[in-house]
Parts: sequence; C-alpha cells; structure tokens
Amino acid sequence: MVPGARLVVLGKQGAGKGTQCVRLSHHYVVPHVSTGDMLRAAVKSGSALGEKVRQVMDRGELLGDDLIMEMVADRLSEPDCRARGFVLDGCPRTINQAQALAALLSPGDVDLVVDIEVPTAQVLRRLAGRRVCVDCGANYSVTSPPKVNWTCDVCGGEVVQREDDTEEAISRRLDIYEKQTAPLITWYTERGQLARVNGVGSPDAVLRRIIRAVEDRREGSSGVAARRS
Ligand code: AMP
Repeated sequence: MVPGARLVVLGKQGAGKGTQCVRLSHHYVVPHVSTGDMLRAAVKSGSALGEKVRQVMDRGELLGDDLIMEMVADRLSEPDCRARGFVLDGCPRTINQAQALAALLSPGDVDLVVDIEVPTAQVLRRLAGRRVCVDCGANYSVTSPPKVNWTCDVCGGEVVQREDDTEEAISRRLDIYEKQTAPLITWYTERGQLARVNGVGSPDAVLRRIIRAVEDRREGSSGVAARRS
C-alpha cells in the first residue's frame, strides 16, 4: 500500500503550488486541502460570510487567522485526513497560523514543509497568463489552454482569469507574501522541517524533485529511528 503523507507546501503566488499539490495528493493518495479553494467555495455559496470573504480576497489581502485555522482544523479532523494525511496548500501563511497548525497536529507533526522556489520575475509572468476552472479549480494558462474553447478538460466548467489575478491585487499579494509568509521559511528551517525545491522547469520535473525531498526526509528519519532503536 502507498504510505500516506502530511505535507505543507509553501511558495509565492504563481510558484506552481496548486499544480504540485494536486499531483502530490494523487501520488500519496491523500486529500488536497487548499484554503484558497475552501474560501472560493464559501464565496460561491453566496452566503453573507462568503461576501465578506470575497471582498478581502479580491483586494489580495489575508483573511483572519482564527477563521482560517477553524476551517483547517475542521477539515483535518475528517476521517480521510486522519487516516492518510494531507497536502496542505495555502496554509499556513503567517507565523500565527504555523503555531496553530503545530498545536493542532501535536503530538504528531507534518512530515515535511516544501518551499517551491521560483524567481519573482517568472511568477509575475505566470500569474498574468494564469487561467482557472471556476468549478473544479484546475489550472491552465494562455500558453497551455484547455483543449476546447476555454472549457475545462476535467469537468467542463468555464475557464477564466481569477478575480485576484489583476496587476494591483498580484502586487499586493506578493508584498504580503514577503512580509507575512516568507518568515515561515526561517521558522520551519529553524525547526528542521523545511526542504527548498527549485520550482523552475516542467511540472513533472518539479514534482520529481518534491517527491525526492519527501523520500529523503523519510529515509533520514527512519535512519535516525533505526540508529536510536
Ligand atoms: P490562494 O488560492 O492560496 O492563492 O488563496 C487566495 C486568497 O485566499 C488569498 O489571497 C487570501 O485572500 C485568501 N487565503 C487563502 N489562504 C489563506 C490563509 N491561510 N490565510 C489568510 N488568507 C488566505
């Protein structure tokens, strides 16, 4: 049986996080838990909370830590996550969230935190051309569109540019990333939980690098366990 995994994937907007998280969730047969997708579902529901969420997301700002961590705690407590693990995409985004996640998983922990590294000039190019399916969230781009007339290859949904992929919202999100999310790299490095992975290259090549990092970590920790026993 394929062993499960508990992974957190970090990376600035446009680093390919969403694409790699979907692939990792298939590889390790674990749920893909994306806070962005959960929030977009809340917006789509048309509820009063959804409307508030939409306004914050459209500005490219972050939602409050408490709301996010309540949502994540609920999702990670479901049987599929408890049994097999998860690929967490888009969370944590602040040190507060990272601390709350560690408390949530204690006495266990994540297997590995992967930072997908791509130069800013390249993510700006990727974000400007990014297109997504409004129904299932599948990712496309102007250079790699769906086969038929902006209709999703996976589910037939409409493929569009995200509301928060405007130039203004993109630069605000990258700014927030530098201020609030980049410190997580140091935080997780200090805890010995971080692997940096080069995110430049084909999606297959990047996936192979991430899987190698996860396997190296597992071999490393089983080596430590074996040496300790
Ligand atoms: P994403 O799809 O991960 O790029 O997330 C889209 C937007 O959802 C972000 O720009 C934030 O407005 C919001 N969001 C997603 N995850 C979080 C989080 N962990 N904390 C705060 N806001 C979040």
